Amino acid sequence: MVDKYAVIGNPIAHSKSPLIHRAFAAQTGDDISYEAILAPLDGFEATVRELIAQGYKGANVTVPFKFEAFHLCDSLSTRAKTAGAGAVNTLVNINGSIHGDNTDGVGLRNDIEQNLDFEIANKHILILGAGGAAHGILNSLIGASSITIANRTYERALELVMALRNCEAKASTFEALERPYDLIINATSAGLSDTVLPIPNIIFGENCLAYDMMYGRETPFMKQAREAGAQVADGLGMLVEQAAEAFQIWRGVRPNTLPVIAMLSTLIGKY
Ligand code: NDP
Repeated sequence: MVDKYAVIGNPIAHSKSPLIHRAFAAQTGDDISYEAILAPLDGFEATVRELIAQGYKGANVTVPFKFEAFHLCDSLSTRAKTAGAGAVNTLVNINGSIHGDNTDGVGLRNDIEQNLDFEIANKHILILGAGGAAHGILNSLIGASSITIANRTYERALELVMALRNCEAKASTFEALERPYDLIINATSAGLSDTVLPIPNIIFGENCLAYDMMYGRETPFMKQAREAGAQVADGLGMLVEQAAEAFQIWRGVRPNTLPVIAMLSTLIGKY
C-alpha cells in the first residue's frame, strides 16, 4: 500500500513541497503519495486528526500553523523543543501518536555549509527578523562567534536573544547596526512586499554571505547585498534541505538534494 504524506498550510497552493517530495521518492524508489492540503485557519487540529484517521504517515506544516503544531504533538524532538518559541514543521504519525520535529534549522545549515561551502563556526552572524523563521533557525547556528538579531520591533529581537545560550548575542534595531558581519540571514518577510529594509551598507563585511530565506525572485535585500559586493543566496536550497531532513525522518533514507534544487531553479526561473 502507498504511504501517504502531506503538507498542511493556509494558503498552500504555492507550496513546492509536493514537487520536492515526489522527486525524492522517485530517486529513492519509495512508494509514497504527497499532497498539499489547505486547512481552515481555525481547523488545523481537526485536519491533522482526520489525516491520522485516514492513516497518513506524516505531514509537513507551514505558515501559519507551525506554533499550533508544536502544542498538538504528543512528543517532540530536542530540535523542536529548542526552536525558539516552539515551532514544529514536521509531524510523524507513530501508531496514532503525533511526534513533532523542526527541520528548518538543519536545512538552513546544510544549505549554507554543504551547498554554498560557507562555514558557520567562528563567524559573526546577523539575523534580520525575529518571527517564526528566525526562531526556527537559532539552534542551527551553534559555533558562531556572535549573533546579532535586528528586528523592526526591537522587543521581539530582545526576546529571541533571551532564548540564545552558549553564544554571545545582542539585539538591535535595523538603523542602529554599525559593524560588518560575515553572514547575514534575512529572516523577515519584508521581501514579500518589496520593502527596503533600513540597513546600512557597512553590515556587508569582506567575503560576506547574504542569505535571504525567501526564494523565487530578487528581494531588495538581495539587491542591496549584491551591489555592496556580498555573495548572495536565496532560500530555495534551505527549502529542499529541510524537506530532505523530513523525508529521512519518515523514510529512513537520505535523498540527494542537488538535482532537486537544480530542477526547482529551472522551474522557478533565473532572476
Ligand atoms: P513571521 O510572520 O513569523 O515574521 C515576519 C518577520 O518579518 C518579523 O520579524 C517581522 O517584524 C518582519 N517583517 C515583516 N514585514 C516587515 C517589513 N515590512 N519591514 C521589516 N520587517 C518586516 O514570518 P516567518 O518568520 O514565518 O517567515 C519569514 C520569511 O522566511 C518568509 O519570507 C518565509 O517565506 C521565509 N521562510 C523560508 C523558509 C525556507 O525554507 N526557505 C522556511 C521558513 C520561512 P516584526 O516583528 O516587527 O513584525
